[in-house]
Amino acid sequence: MRTDFLPFSRPSITEEDIAAVGDVLRSGWITTGPRTAEFEQRFADYVGCPGAVALSSATAGMHVVLKALGIGPGDEVITPSMTWVSTVNLIVLAEATPVFADIDRDTLMVSRRSIEACLTDSTRAIIPVHFAGAPVDIDPIRQLASLRDIPLVEDAAHALGTEYRGQHVGHCGISIFSFHPIKNITTGEGGMFCSDDERLLERVRRLKFHGLGVDAFDRHQQGRSPQAEALEPGYKYNMTDISAVLGLRQLARVEEFNAKRTELAMRYRERLRAVEEIIPLEDPPYPMEHAWHLFIVRLDIDRAGLGRDEFMQALKERNIGTGLHFRAVHLQRFYRESMGLRRGMLPNTEWNSDRICSLPLFPDMTEQDVDDVVDAIKGVLSRKPSYVTARSFAKETA
Ligand SMILES: *Cc1c(COP(=O)(O)O)cnc(C)c1O
Repeated sequence: MRTDFLPFSRPSITEEDIAAVGDVLRSGWITTGPRTAEFEQRFADYVGCPGAVALSSATAGMHVVLKALGIGPGDEVITPSMTWVSTVNLIVLAEATPVFADIDRDTLMVSRRSIEACLTDSTRAIIPVHFAGAPVDIDPIRQLASLRDIPLVEDAAHALGTEYRGQHVGHCGISIFSFHPIKNITTGEGGMFCSDDERLLERVRRLKFHGLGVDAFDRHQQGRSPQAEALEPGYKYNMTDISAVLGLRQLARVEEFNAKRTELAMRYRERLRAVEEIIPLEDPPYPMEHAWHLFIVRLDIDRAGLGRDEFMQALKERNIGTGLHFRAVHLQRFYRESMGLRRGMLPNTEWNSDRICSLPLFPDMTEQDVDDVVDAIKGVLSRKPSYVTARSFAKETA
């Protein structure tokens, strides 16, 4: 057994990164400024989109875009329940209604078909999630959205470097990336809004900073003139240069990071193939490049005679950290109680919500670390408690 704890994720930060942050701190300009402008430009160039706006988080980006799209009372927004709770929280905070599309059982992603089943005359936005580093099948969804004239916002928090049919996720339309410490690159906390819609970019630039007007002159000055006035009430969601300089350095390494993630993921796949209680995710069938944000497995709770939560706990006792991406939103207390949501509504989402577990995956991990995880999994599964049935575990999480 490992003697030191292997976390489920750890950012890759070098001494040079730390020095670069130190330089910003010493420069006299630490909030939004030249580093942020440069990060936005480099990010847009990398993803291949016309414009990008750096923000304090992806959640902030979602808040601002819902506002910019005018989502409010009476509106419905289609998104999966298998997502980070932030998106659904914001839909509810906007006084709109989340409508959950079920996912594919083996890729954890929504499809045109599952979204179509949720469409009504009140649908005002569709927010699919690119999951774990694989791309959602966005072309058919984009067609549907444009046919019905409904805005499409891609949750690309897992998808920096992901390619769909030869192009980076985020190169067109509206997408939001996250730089939370577990994501493929980090700025401590941060997010990026990307779009090819100039008017929407302007609106987001305004809403992210008190609703103050920005003109071209201001942008060249890397700031707003002191005379800038509120054009509408806005938020305070700007990224600081302290974060942006880290983002610039991390972005320069994203291909290296993702290549390492891919190698580790392939080793997991190979070594877990013989473990019959572990069900891997499947790659989507269309042309794509996986960014391997997460390595998610499903525990076959019937075969293992062990619930997923106990499985995670047993791994922790063997010094292996794991994550859970995600607990179905519609089964979380607030959503069950306030919206009357319950089990049985989204079979594939619920099946996965009971069984998924994210194994350690980060660029500084070694092949030995992967082997330690696999050995720990085998160890846990070899001493299954036979006195409890898997069915009772499924009920416990209900
Ligand atoms: C991390 C994440 C977010 C939120 O990102 P923050 O930067 O933490 O706000 C949104 N959606 C998904 C799918 C995520 O994984």
